[in-house]
Amino acid sequence: MKFQFLGVGGAFARENFHSNMVLSLNGKRLLIDAGGDIRFSLAAAGLKLTDLHAVYVSHLHGDHVGGMEYLALGTKFNPAFVDDAGAKRKLKLFIKSNMARDLWNNVMRGGTATIQGEVNTLDTFFDVKKCGHNGKFTFEGTNFLLVQTVHYVNDRELAPSYGLFWQAPNGQKVFLTTDTQFAPASIVTFYKQADIVFHDCEIGPFKSGVHAHFTDLCTLPVELRAKMWLYHYNDGDKLDAVEHGFAGWVKQGQEFDFS
Ligand SMILES: [Zn+2]
Ligand SMILES: [Zn+2]
Repeated sequence: MKFQFLGVGGAFARENFHSNMVLSLNGKRLLIDAGGDIRFSLAAAGLKLTDLHAVYVSHLHGDHVGGMEYLALGTKFNPAFVDDAGAKRKLKLFIKSNMARDLWNNVMRGGTATIQGEVNTLDTFFDVKKCGHNGKFTFEGTNFLLVQTVHYVNDRELAPSYGLFWQAPNGQKVFLTTDTQFAPASIVTFYKQADIVFHDCEIGPFKSGVHAHFTDLCTLPVELRAKMWLYHYNDGDKLDAVEHGFAGWVKQGQEFDFS
């Protein structure tokens, strides 16, 4: 199992691409989120749409779903997007059930419902696999558990946003926060269970309030910081993560091997 960060930038970063990843297992590739710059970040990693088999959507911010229209149209109209037998295929789409309708209606419909002569839905473009309550999905024999994070509150309700927790073939337990506030009480159990944590982390003088900030994460116990790799950061200078007890900053394109 190889796990590569196509990008490590925050939503408004102009460097390092959006924080989307590709997980490779048994020759199949799972894309984790597809932000607005996905076609460039895939190309920078030497990947084409035909190299992908599935996509997971963590939540509905543009740096995570802004590239879904590209995935939809780019796979539907690509004659080379076929399975081993030569039959037209679709990307599997893993998504929490309470987000699928909003992904279509609020994010994708405008650009993809308008194909000449067709009435389209999310199922037109993707093999949709909805994850229910306490959701999980299986990709190439590995279970991925959805972990709700406290990312932002919309109209008095916590908006759906789900990180992932999985056990890799080498036995390592991995926790990927995707996007979360600094809310350790809600996810500390996953910090503790994991052998390696990939944590979104903003830097700079202003705190957005919807992401963990470097100075917040520095308050965590040393044994938790030691297994944390930081990503989803703004442009600009960063303090030395290792000096502050973390495993490090993930670099754009960096790959982790969990084989
Ligand atoms: Zn984000
Ligand atoms: Zn977000």
